[in-house]
Amino acid sequence: MNITHGLRRALQINPNGLATVYGQRRRNWGEVGERVARLAGGLRTRGVSDGDRVAVLSFNSDRYLELYLATGWAGGVIVPLNIRWSALENEDALRDCRASILVMDKAFAPIGAQLAGAIPGLKLIYADDGEVPAGMESYEDLVAGSAPVADAMRKGDDLAGIFYTGGTTGRSKGVMLSHRNLMANALNALGEGLFPTSTTYLHAAPMFHLANGAAMYSLLLSGGSNVIVQGFTPEGVMAAMQNERVTDVLLVPTMIQMLVDHPAIGNYDLSALEHIIYGASPISEAVLDRAARALPHVRFTQAYGMTELSPIATLLHSDEHIGEGRRKGRHRGAGRATLGCEVRIVDENDRPVPAGSVGEIVVRGDTVMMGYWERPEETARAVVDGWMHTGDGGYMDQDGFIYVVDRVKDMIISGGENVYSVEVENALAQHSSVLQCAVIGIPNEQWGEQVHAVVVRRSGSEVSAGELIEFTKTLIAGYKCPRSIDITETPLPLSGAGKVLKRELRRPFWEGRDRRVS
Ligand code: ATP
Ligand code: MG
Repeated sequence: MNITHGLRRALQINPNGLATVYGQRRRNWGEVGERVARLAGGLRTRGVSDGDRVAVLSFNSDRYLELYLATGWAGGVIVPLNIRWSALENEDALRDCRASILVMDKAFAPIGAQLAGAIPGLKLIYADDGEVPAGMESYEDLVAGSAPVADAMRKGDDLAGIFYTGGTTGRSKGVMLSHRNLMANALNALGEGLFPTSTTYLHAAPMFHLANGAAMYSLLLSGGSNVIVQGFTPEGVMAAMQNERVTDVLLVPTMIQMLVDHPAIGNYDLSALEHIIYGASPISEAVLDRAARALPHVRFTQAYGMTELSPIATLLHSDEHIGEGRRKGRHRGAGRATLGCEVRIVDENDRPVPAGSVGEIVVRGDTVMMGYWERPEETARAVVDGWMHTGDGGYMDQDGFIYVVDRVKDMIISGGENVYSVEVENALAQHSSVLQCAVIGIPNEQWGEQVHAVVVRRSGSEVSAGELIEFTKTLIAGYKCPRSIDITETPLPLSGAGKVLKRELRRPFWEGRDRRVS
């Protein structure tokens, strides 16, 4: 199976169905299929043959989706670049993957021109409206002026894309995913009941990030519709949901928080919305409860995974958030392995630990990456006997439900006790003055590390560090409570995928010192 099989499937079962909506542009699958075959022809005549890398640096658009497909159709390998990267980081990634073509939109044209100067031979394609900058070729001319070509029919084990990890814990790594990896994930999701044919899915999260991008592959197989907004803004997303009668969306927890705390939420008709998939980082129960109250007609499903797993490993279905599941506390976890994945919890010697004990989460299945691009040692450390080592700590209950406690790198060891930053954040988030928070370990002579919190105060509210510390003491054990808290009104630093960058919060405290894990 390959990703273009997905496109052929959409063409077969739903040629006249709505495929993409972006602003005023609406296209059915037949039209998208035609454009993809032409664009693939254009890429071939620009030198793309089997295995060649085509990089994309763009906000979300319908053309982004076409590029994902056309690159595969031409036999090439898609490399979506992180829109938050600096010019230098983009240059590093382009050199790393040795892309021959860079496609960009208007916002990134200046960076594109700079990169073309730095990387000889890099061809630039401008995928936006308006005047085409000097030295670039127009995407639309490429579509209009190229003859359609036949599908390159890549094999399941061929490389389909290089996806850079979120860069939350350090430098991003290029994850090689095969056609089989991506389609196995798409089928797992369908098998779990996500993305049926009737789905109108909103790409609100960035399309370069697989947490959102992967939905596209499932929608090909079911012939559903993709509504695309350029980027996440609460009002833009609510308007798109209302106007296009969106049924499904994936949101990361920071987006859910911004949406449900938005004062204008009552002004939009969100009645078509049926289902929010959330994940990619931990969510606090307080935020999830606020979301369920604000959108009482909506089902919530949690996905846990990582780029290296194409990306979904476990799902917590909506029915586990309520009733029996909730009584058992399952809504605090990440659910069970998807039908194509196996999950285990292991100790540092890779031996499975008993139910309820914390260890590292490892995952096996057809969705495990081929490896990190040109980093064989890191691949060998991450994938052992087919098991992907996630770097996430967690435990499994008797019924196979997984609970992610913290990233190993974010755990705090204070006076010999393990403190999970996520648990402390969940406690803080229950305070009515706390809008956002992040908990980190900072150096402490006596205990090694000390629990420190950064709290973004809700505007108009008054609260002191002392009060917040006392508040957490009513919820969690004393040794887990923050010893120090910085209260601010500045939003927390986020990655391009919307995750809190704790390493940036940690940096000033650790200047000149080594942390046990960096
Ligand atoms: P990098 O690997 O570059 O540091 P990253 O790990 O954020 O970045 P991704 O592959 O986008 O890159 O994210 C995967 C990670 O996100 C997981 O390892 C896990 O820590 C976190 N994560 C994903 N889903 C969930 C979830 N449902 N609950 C808690 N954490 C999650
Ligand atoms: Mg990671």
